[in-house]
Amino acid sequence: MTHKNTAGTPRLICLYLSEKGRVLANRISPTTLPLSEVKIGEVFTSFDQIVFVTTAAIAVRSIAPHISSKATDPSVVCVDEDGSYAIPLLGGHRGANRLAKTIAATIGSEPVITNPSDRNGTYTLNSFAGYHAVGDIAHFQAQLNSGIVPKVTNSTGWPLPGALADSATSDDGPEILISITRPDLAHLRLVGSVQLIPELLVVGVGCSSDATPDEVASAIEATMIESNLANEAIHTFATIDIRKDHPAIVALNHPTVFFDSSQLARVEVPNPSSTVLDSVGSASVAEAAAILASGSPDGLIVSKRKFRAVTVAVAQRSAKPGRLFVVGLGPGNPDLRTLQAANTISHAEVVTGFGPYVDLCSDLLTPNQKVKRFPIGEETHRVDFAIDSAIAGYEVALVCSGDPGVFAMASLAFERAEIIGFDPKLITVVPGVTAALASSAVAGAILGHDHAYISLSDLMTPWSVIEERVIAVARADLVAAFYNPKSSRRISQLNKAIGILAEFRPATTPVVVARAVGRDHQSVKVVQLADFSSDEVDMETLVIVGSTTSTFAGIRAYTPRGYSEKK
Ligand code: SAH
Repeated sequence: MTHKNTAGTPRLICLYLSEKGRVLANRISPTTLPLSEVKIGEVFTSFDQIVFVTTAAIAVRSIAPHISSKATDPSVVCVDEDGSYAIPLLGGHRGANRLAKTIAATIGSEPVITNPSDRNGTYTLNSFAGYHAVGDIAHFQAQLNSGIVPKVTNSTGWPLPGALADSATSDDGPEILISITRPDLAHLRLVGSVQLIPELLVVGVGCSSDATPDEVASAIEATMIESNLANEAIHTFATIDIRKDHPAIVALNHPTVFFDSSQLARVEVPNPSSTVLDSVGSASVAEAAAILASGSPDGLIVSKRKFRAVTVAVAQRSAKPGRLFVVGLGPGNPDLRTLQAANTISHAEVVTGFGPYVDLCSDLLTPNQKVKRFPIGEETHRVDFAIDSAIAGYEVALVCSGDPGVFAMASLAFERAEIIGFDPKLITVVPGVTAALASSAVAGAILGHDHAYISLSDLMTPWSVIEERVIAVARADLVAAFYNPKSSRRISQLNKAIGILAEFRPATTPVVVARAVGRDHQSVKVVQLADFSSDEVDMETLVIVGSTTSTFAGIRAYTPRGYSEKK
């Protein structure tokens, strides 16, 4: 049996009992098996997500003997054979709630979420990525869930977690303290506060070749205690590359960055040592590595502590690095959304975009995220808000329908980044299935040979330019996909474009009129060019006009791969 994938994408299996269950299971997961053919114990340890298309009782009885730990058990969701409900049974906050919502959006069922915080939209204190919650979390969470507004105090220069930045705070509620000092659990419990510890420290470590793992671990622990710094605040360790395979460094079992001696030698440090210089070629390892990894020459907050065979120094990361992901959601239904898009949105701290597009991914959103929906228009506002949020240190997903590079926000993001001064390397474009691909597929294969995408919106391009391009496409005998074909104010362009193509193509040329593809109210038809009417075309419609070789296949249409195959 295959092993769990630790590289990012969770491994999902769907188990079923009956033929009806099998059909449903195939809509939920590419990996499906009859329940009778699997050993649940093996599935339990091999997959991250298990979906049962059975009764809840069967699912519960199957998994019961194998449940061991909240930290390692897979997420388990049960879907009834009618596909009416998707119920997370295990690992709600570790992905099962989200999975249930995605399944629900895919097969049109209702997610049955039983965690109160997810039901009433309150963030979960212990699920903020990059922060550790300590204190009586369960009690505090219960108060939040019952509507109490907390007082939030941030003693760090770090941005608040997305949802906290967005939600109401008070001056006197129970306190959420954002701090990297060592938590005093007894005191926190006594006063009813919780502490959120952001991972903002870099610990520089130098060690001689004979240092033992115990020595290194206790030197770090002693330094953290002496400096009153929480261990949870450690983001990374940093050291010299020649210690990469040193057992004491490996035993740290935590992300570690390595620098070579020439990089370290260039850093100005408060406590250089000639002995260290002689032995490794840099006068500092712990301080220099901590400063380099912190990203700031002034980052050092604890200068070098010396132990028998170990040195330790601590620096504070200069800034939480934000990033902008411009994400394509595909045309609508989650089953046409890529895994990369879903994972990016799930991991984002801020999700933003045109309101209806944000709704297209609502199954992926959690109350721990800051979600900002924008009205129609305001495209520049949307992008600027996303870039500003990334500059403030958040991982931001700016969502678009279809593909973000096709008449959407990706190019605007690069344009605005240049104007605002945001590093374009921090922009990632996550592709999506564009309307033309989805429409062509539903209607057959009309994009089977060379084709062009043209937006008929003359808000962005003068009509004279659009017209010239339509003529060029007509002359080149390309299949033409018209985006933004018509709106309530722009009605003549589509008929003009069709008129131009009609001069070059037979009246029998197939035309695909695809409305709301991948959405609940999808309607797609293929008509002959002579019969085309723009009456039913709106802003949710894509019109694809075939080339002279395009042909009907029953009620659908395709364009042959080669001209020689023309009928
Ligand atoms: N980035 C989007 C396109 C944005 S332009 C994409 O890649 O699909 C908006 C135009 O795209 C609409 O006016 C319509 O012509 C087309 N469109 C977007 N979604 C559609 C859908 N689900 N069905 C049909 N056409 C769609």
